[in-house]
Amino acid sequence: MKSEAKKYNNIKLAIGITEAVISFVLLVLFVWLGYSAKLENLIRRFVENDYLVLGAFVIILGIVSAVLFSPFNYYTDYFLEHKYNLSNQTFGKWIWEGAKGALVGIVIGVPILAAFFFVIREFGILWWLPFGTILFVFSVVLAQIVPILILPLFYKVTPLENESLKEKIVLLFANANLKVSNVFKFNMSKNTKKANAAFTGLGKTKRILLGDTLLESYSEDEIETVIAHELGHYKKKHIIKNLFIGTFSSFLIFFLMAHLHSITLKWFGFNGITQIASFPVLVIWASLIGLIQKPLSNFISRKFEYEADQYAVVSTKKPEEFVNTLEKLTDQNLGDREPHPLVEWFFYSHPSIKNRIKNIRAEGVRLQN
Ligand SMILES: [Zn+2]
Repeated sequence: MKSEAKKYNNIKLAIGITEAVISFVLLVLFVWLGYSAKLENLIRRFVENDYLVLGAFVIILGIVSAVLFSPFNYYTDYFLEHKYNLSNQTFGKWIWEGAKGALVGIVIGVPILAAFFFVIREFGILWWLPFGTILFVFSVVLAQIVPILILPLFYKVTPLENESLKEKIVLLFANANLKVSNVFKFNMSKNTKKANAAFTGLGKTKRILLGDTLLESYSEDEIETVIAHELGHYKKKHIIKNLFIGTFSSFLIFFLMAHLHSITLKWFGFNGITQIASFPVLVIWASLIGLIQKPLSNFISRKFEYEADQYAVVSTKKPEEFVNTLEKLTDQNLGDREPHPLVEWFFYSHPSIKNRIKNIRAEGVRLQN
């Protein structure tokens, strides 16, 4: 018999894949059948300014896709989470959190969209160069403001006040040259019964975040191993590495998109790269490139997770406590202990618990010798 965790993860995976395939097919049909050009023409009857036309075009597509996919979102984000007793949200709260998320997305997305439109009109097919540069600067700024401006919109973030736990981790931090005052907790429990921790921020805003759900149900030794893992991300400079890897790959992806878009425009009956109705073609290519990019970036992410685990074992010398913590976390979060290797390879940003434990125990043995 399949475990509940296996069922839960398989359903989410099946829905995720279905959703991606449907949205891709619909997008191709939308462009192929001429609806994209029709929509642009329709908007131009009411609006003259090109930037406003683009804005309306994107808003209409955004609303249509939000409505179309709302049953999927409801099912995976709300219904399943309640069915498997993982959620603490009421329906109203769920809608509210979603609306806030959408609003933040719009505030971040609008300047990016405007910048894209500006550079494609100014630089033509070379748009990928200035656009990649703008996005790099933007992501550096974003990485710094996420913990202090964006996260507080969703959670109450407060400094960790547990004194005895703090004492325990002073040494860990001294070894890593980071101040203990950089540990914060956030009220994850308002949304979910799951537990998690993260390392976020850049420069002065860098910090370790611990979910209150983690602090409540784990021993201090167990929490220490989680903190050590997050410190590992800091010590191994994963945030900065991700920023540079992300920037390099976005230059490459934008370059490919720019040329594929320009070459294939005519297939869909468009005549120039700055034509607004042709922009969905960029999205089509982005989704196809994503099929290669996603497993690659997950591969790098899993490598970083192994490195952080390794750091946690070496700095705490508590491999068994760490294994125990991961076992507990997997049960609490209903994680799939042993996903199909292909699924893990393509979709998992973290190695499966089975592989992490194998790695942690090996590191523990190496430590003893
Ligand atoms: Zn990690």
